[in-house]
Amino acid sequence: MNKRNIILVSAAGAILFVLAARHFQLFKRSSSETPSYVTISLDQLKNKKNIIDIAIIGSGPAGWSAALYGARLGNYTVVIDGNLPGGQLTKTSFIENWPGFKRIKGSELMDQLASQAKSYGAEELKDIVTSVDLASWPYTIKTDEGHTLHAAALIIATGSSPRNTGIPGEMEFYGKGVSTCAICDAPFYKGKNAVVIGGGDSAAEEALQLAVYAKKVTVLVRKEVMRASAVMQQRLKSAHNIEILTDVEAERITGVDTVKAVEIRNKKTNELKVLQTDGFFIAIGHHPNTELFKGTKLLNPHGYVIVHNHTQETPMPGIFAAGDVEDSRYRQAGVAAGHGCAAAIDADRFLREVGLTGKFRDNLKKTDAYFSDFLVARAEIPMLPSLESFNEKVVSQKGIFVLDFTGKNCPTCKQQLPIIEAAASRFADSITFYKVDADEAKDLVMSLKVPKVPYVVIFKDGVRVATFNKVVSKHEFFEHLSSILSEA
Ligand code: NDP
Repeated sequence: MNKRNIILVSAAGAILFVLAARHFQLFKRSSSETPSYVTISLDQLKNKKNIIDIAIIGSGPAGWSAALYGARLGNYTVVIDGNLPGGQLTKTSFIENWPGFKRIKGSELMDQLASQAKSYGAEELKDIVTSVDLASWPYTIKTDEGHTLHAAALIIATGSSPRNTGIPGEMEFYGKGVSTCAICDAPFYKGKNAVVIGGGDSAAEEALQLAVYAKKVTVLVRKEVMRASAVMQQRLKSAHNIEILTDVEAERITGVDTVKAVEIRNKKTNELKVLQTDGFFIAIGHHPNTELFKGTKLLNPHGYVIVHNHTQETPMPGIFAAGDVEDSRYRQAGVAAGHGCAAAIDADRFLREVGLTGKFRDNLKKTDAYFSDFLVARAEIPMLPSLESFNEKVVSQKGIFVLDFTGKNCPTCKQQLPIIEAAASRFADSITFYKVDADEAKDLVMSLKVPKVPYVVIFKDGVRVATFNKVVSKHEFFEHLSSILSEA
């Protein structure tokens, strides 16, 4: 059989076919939602644009490690960032258990990893995947900004997201005292009280981060003991302003405009108590980010991507997974990175097996199949450095202006930025956009009473017309800008 032309046809009873398919490990079990087989023929790459050898969804340690290996092995490799560029690590302070580094900032580690991968040719697409068509190969990926990409091999590295408690008040006060990111918001709790819910390492981290600024931090643990590691528990005990309450459940968050209190119940005595607090930080674990693949045979009943036989292979040919999205056991950045490397090696092997390599790839490159029209450079948004420049360039001017307040240690600002950049491209003719570094332009922050970052303010003819105090979705933001424009 010619490796360049492995064609798996649908003749259900053809024994030869099944044997051949098994040989190339391309035939996978069926489910009602996904096809029972995928035809893999290099012919199917003809007349396609935006072909990617290895497309990686997710930009955490698993994603960028996969990119490093994928690109170093000579494959055209693209990482699609997703909602939180750099992943969960950008939300932690220091990492002390990454092999080889005694102590390094999570965001710094991710920047270094990404730049290492890019130095071997890996590309970054700042966009969000909205759908993946698993019905035919190459797999078609569609993105929020309207791009269509064709992945010969796909690595799912979408990680996991913080779980919510679901108690009354949680959603109502989200961004107004309820948070999942102490590293982003801790400085706003200077001299205030904060509560952290959870008994694991994340809860310990959040509490320690908050304790630097807050008057008092109370950790709510639902069991008799915390599950956080001994070293983290010791640090909590050593902090003079951290109290740990065990056997308690949070029942309701209350407040006026912002969080004022949390009602907690002692599980042993059933006593209900009202704890006055200015902040409620949630650190109760994570769930895998697999909404894109819901209902497909890629997922196990708990929603994790299935990988098997000590590989990163999923139940579908050419699709691999790495990191927290497939790992409910270890959930460590170092493990995710290792699995990312393994996924890229598996992906590279798959590409060689189907023949997307050597001369075939070189010839394909002579056409415009690999031309990546989605990697368009975005216009740089200028900075507004001070109150003086704001008065000169915004207040005294006619027109619509958007100010995006960001901070250096702010992962959610990184989430907001691609949306602002997309808006800056879309509304380039009618709206002026500025970025403001909240750590630098302190006079402007004071003047506009900016309480936290990210924070987006819109001015029209020198008058403030809208404010967003938490990450605003692209859809909502575009609609808002369009309606302001239509009133003009
Ligand atoms: P974990 O799953 O380890 O812990 C979640 C905690 O939240 C548990 O104590 C759990 O309680 C509690 N919880 C779950 N649901 C609720 C609820 N509805 N109400 C109240 N409490 C609840 O998650 P983490 O995010 O803490 O850690 C994930 C992984 O990442 C772990 O492997 C951890 O070691 C690692 N990590 C390491 C860090 C480091 O080394 N610096 C930092 C952060 C994370 P219960 O115990 O009763 O189940």
